[in-house]
Amino acid sequence: MDIRVTEADVVVVGGGSAGSTAAVEAQQRLPRGRVVLLEKAHIKRSGAIAIGMDGLNNAIIPGHATPEQYVKEITVANDGIVNQRAVYEYARNSFAMIQELDSWGVKFQKTRSGDFDVKKVHHNGSYVLPMPEGYDLKKILTRMVKRAGVKVVNRVMATRILVTDGRVAGVIGFDTREGHIEIIKARAVILCCGASGRLGLPASGYLHGTYENPSNAGDGYSMAYHAGAELSGIECFQVNPLIKDYNGPACAYVTGPLGGHTVNARGHRFIESDYWSGQMMLEFYRELHSANGPVYLKLTHLAPETITEVERVLHQTERPSRGRFHEGRGHSYASDLVEMHISEIGLCSGHSASGVWVNEKGETTVPGLYAAGDMACVPHNYLLGALTYGKICAQSALDYLERAPAVEPLAAAVDAERERILAPLSRRSGVAPHQYEYKVRRLVNDYLQPPKTGNKMTLGLEYFLRAKEELEEVTAESPHELMRVMECHFIRDCAEMAARASLYRTESRWGLYHYRLDYPEMDDRSWFTHVNLKKDERGEMVAFKRPVEPYLFPINDGERAAYHRLRIPAEEQRASA
Ligand SMILES: Cc1cc2nc3c(=O)[nH]c(=O)nc-3n(C[C@H](O)[C@H](O)[C@H](O)COP(=O)(O)OP(=O)(O)OC[C@H]3O[C@@H](n4cnc5c(N)ncnc54)[C@H](O)[C@@H]3O)c2cc1C
Repeated sequence: MDIRVTEADVVVVGGGSAGSTAAVEAQQRLPRGRVVLLEKAHIKRSGAIAIGMDGLNNAIIPGHATPEQYVKEITVANDGIVNQRAVYEYARNSFAMIQELDSWGVKFQKTRSGDFDVKKVHHNGSYVLPMPEGYDLKKILTRMVKRAGVKVVNRVMATRILVTDGRVAGVIGFDTREGHIEIIKARAVILCCGASGRLGLPASGYLHGTYENPSNAGDGYSMAYHAGAELSGIECFQVNPLIKDYNGPACAYVTGPLGGHTVNARGHRFIESDYWSGQMMLEFYRELHSANGPVYLKLTHLAPETITEVERVLHQTERPSRGRFHEGRGHSYASDLVEMHISEIGLCSGHSASGVWVNEKGETTVPGLYAAGDMACVPHNYLLGALTYGKICAQSALDYLERAPAVEPLAAAVDAERERILAPLSRRSGVAPHQYEYKVRRLVNDYLQPPKTGNKMTLGLEYFLRAKEELEEVTAESPHELMRVMECHFIRDCAEMAARASLYRTESRWGLYHYRLDYPEMDDRSWFTHVNLKKDERGEMVAFKRPVEPYLFPINDGERAAYHRLRIPAEEQRASA
């Protein structure tokens, strides 16, 4: 099998939201530099915003909100476990990103006077900026990547970061169509590989029918781990509300500002705010599993023109198949409640808080390695966070290049990885990757899905360790299948991380995200701390505490408990008209 070697200054892995802005920024700042963008799909339609996006969930627009308010809101939403500096850096820089997107032609909803038309969905402040015409966002990003002159390599999947003397020396992977090995030598790598979206198995049973973009299989989490980086908050799972059987979001962010909301089977509103947080998910879960379940999205009370607007945004911008789904069932928003459910579990900082540990510069704990977007631990960062941190990482990577020593990939590391990648092609018999993946993800559902217990997770961990050996039996007949096998490695790694971090934190926190039946209370005395994971000197996965840095913006006791008071008491619940 061929090996292709490219020399670069900066490599960006993953050409979705964060990867696009990282590559544009790096290339614009280094006009004669060699910026390479690796994407295992095709950047034209890759990542979570492939089809479009109908709004920014966390826009901090002057006159509507301040960075300080936002940092406080996220601190409270995340039960206090945040690195406020990293959240603040996003908050400080995000408006400039909006203005840049505006200048690139991204269409945001504006008022008649030309102001950004911000809506309130969060518990306290107003941060949601609708993009009813956001269907061409990915096309615009791709155009900017090309215009900047970035070298884009589509259909190449990165599998390992090459590290020499503790510093980044490049990336290795392979072409998923032709099968050759790709090595990109570079002193700085920015990982932008999205969430770990293929961890739990969706209720439909389809491997790729996930809430998250299914090409994000936890690649970035696993690659960062094997490079020696710390990961954080892995026990804070992502669980989302979604439309039952459709597996897409109900989009409280779109419907909320227009008057839509969640109700139980009695038609009663039972939570005050539909903003996604672990506590909101716990109330949702409890209602779903009570005599008042199931849970519905209620739009029936809205005026016909408002319903037309909801349909226009939800069925055209982000999820064209959603309109067909409702039509197929003979349901309409005007006369029917939309049944909702909860998603499979995943790891994602964008919606929750689990990711590779980064500071306010996007630096991981490995020199030369940066991470942005859903895989980097800046809680509740969403789309604008990915775009903003892509830029921040590019700036930090270029600063690093000015002081970083020359470094070469180690031949032994390249040989070992080449052998690992190609091994499944030479196995004559064994297990197909989809069978292996199904098994591991079913075990994830059986043993890790909250509510969690120590007994179940201990058993789960045993199975995930056994599954490590079983990887030696997985076969591939083509480069495409080889990609699936490598994804099996990533998925299994993430399952082990999820079990270990969850076992380590012996309390409950973040509502449903880390709800342990054996430790049902939040215990600030012992657990007001980050739980980080890393590979130790013996190559073992270890969990440890990393203290929460002193806050930039202190939170008083009243504010801290705000997200714990979401439930509307039964006696105050009323059927909404
Ligand atoms: C259903 C859904 C609805 C959402 N709605 C909203 C919303 O309304 N508002 C909002 O603000 N946010 C929303 N978000 C969140 C937002 O879309 C994400 O936070 C953001 O797009 C994440 O960007 P990213 O760059 O981290 O990941 P992505 O944009 O997903 O990019 C990751 C890229 O990495 C590539 N990749 C992965 N592994 C490898 C590898 N090994 N080698 C090479 N390439 C690789 C993937 O193919 C992909 O292109 C939503 C997310 C989802 C899933």
